[in-house]
Amino acid sequence: MSVSMDKEFNPWEAQAARFDIAAKKLNLDEGLWKILRYPNREIIVHLPIQMDDGRLEVFTGYRVQHSIARGPGKGGVRYSPDVNLDEVRALASWMTWKCAVVNIPFGGAKGGVICDPKKLSQREIEKITRRYTAELIEFIGPEKDVPAPDMNTNEQTMAWMMDTYSMHMRQTVTAVVTGKPLNIGGSRGRREATGRGVLIITDESLKKLGMQREGTRVIVQGFGNVGSNAAQLMHDAGYKVIGIGEWDGGLYNKNGIDINALVEHKQRNGSITGFKGADAHDSKALLEAECDVLAPCATENVITSKNADKIKAKIIIEGANGPTTSVADDILADKKVFVVPDILANAGGVTASYFEWVQDRQGYFWKEAVVNEQLEHILVDSFENVVQYSENHGVNNRIAAYMLAIDRVAFTIKQRGLYA
Ligand code: GLU
Repeated sequence: MSVSMDKEFNPWEAQAARFDIAAKKLNLDEGLWKILRYPNREIIVHLPIQMDDGRLEVFTGYRVQHSIARGPGKGGVRYSPDVNLDEVRALASWMTWKCAVVNIPFGGAKGGVICDPKKLSQREIEKITRRYTAELIEFIGPEKDVPAPDMNTNEQTMAWMMDTYSMHMRQTVTAVVTGKPLNIGGSRGRREATGRGVLIITDESLKKLGMQREGTRVIVQGFGNVGSNAAQLMHDAGYKVIGIGEWDGGLYNKNGIDINALVEHKQRNGSITGFKGADAHDSKALLEAECDVLAPCATENVITSKNADKIKAKIIIEGANGPTTSVADDILADKKVFVVPDILANAGGVTASYFEWVQDRQGYFWKEAVVNEQLEHILVDSFENVVQYSENHGVNNRIAAYMLAIDRVAFTIKQRGLYA
């Protein structure tokens, strides 16, 4: 595939490239193609914020609602200096496909604010969050669009969003966001759910390829919410986690890293670096190290035309959104790497968000075992559906997942008909 460098690293192009391949394979009706290829609504907000030193600063934020055909928009909000409209568009579309792959009644949306949380105080982050929520007041809601955490946002961010929305509504509306703290409408198991999904999907991949958990060597890139929970759950389940890569350094131990000790180390020091139970290792080089399972759980564009041919993993489980570029897809396919795409591999998070939304609306909260059991049912079924689709249509898992998702969303649009 000849794609220019810029194009390769633009997440929107990456999404559109896969969409086009899958839509073509499906013989998707031209009109539906046009509807689904672009987002439904894109909102840009400029947030005036008084900083701690008294200065006024203006931050730019986005919320893109790609589709609400199957239900309210659903998707996280990220805070990062790199946020841009094309990225948020791609992430919003991925949410549409993700929710359709796991067959939960949501459309797809995503939000972001251009800011560097490392340089902001908690008070400044709270102000940005509240003003962002207020600017979006008529566009979000339990039946409209339900935000959640993503990169650099967390339970506290969701508590502030929920509170701001509720103040405007003059009543407590817990179901407006998911990923909240437990005592204000959060769900048991939500925090670990994306990582647990990575474990469940890896287990299913192993079964499919006739491999065992014990001794299977895993490298996880990223040690944030997704990577740390995935690594910890995999370690506890008997996998040998030999490498962890973070933005400020990586770790490697061929005999396996004690992930519980590493989690404690990070809690104490704020970083994985300096951990005694493993050797320091270049993070980028870890992606190319010898292993069975590689789980990129950090950010976009880490497996690209520059390194895909050097990857030695047999299985790639995409805990992050968009970690592989569409050019790298072809290289990995030639190498027969078993890739489980983001829209399935990291769908555990939004699936548990769905459970949280259901619980909030019922006012009845489930035990953690119930959440985990329901999560496993959904992900195991979805994995089976995607692999079946891939075998029936002779396509890789990613295109199969897109095809399954596009087919479901297109069917809904046809059934509902157009209001015009
Ligand atoms: N931000 C997560 C994702 O990319 C979770 C979204 C949600 O729970 O709504 O899937």
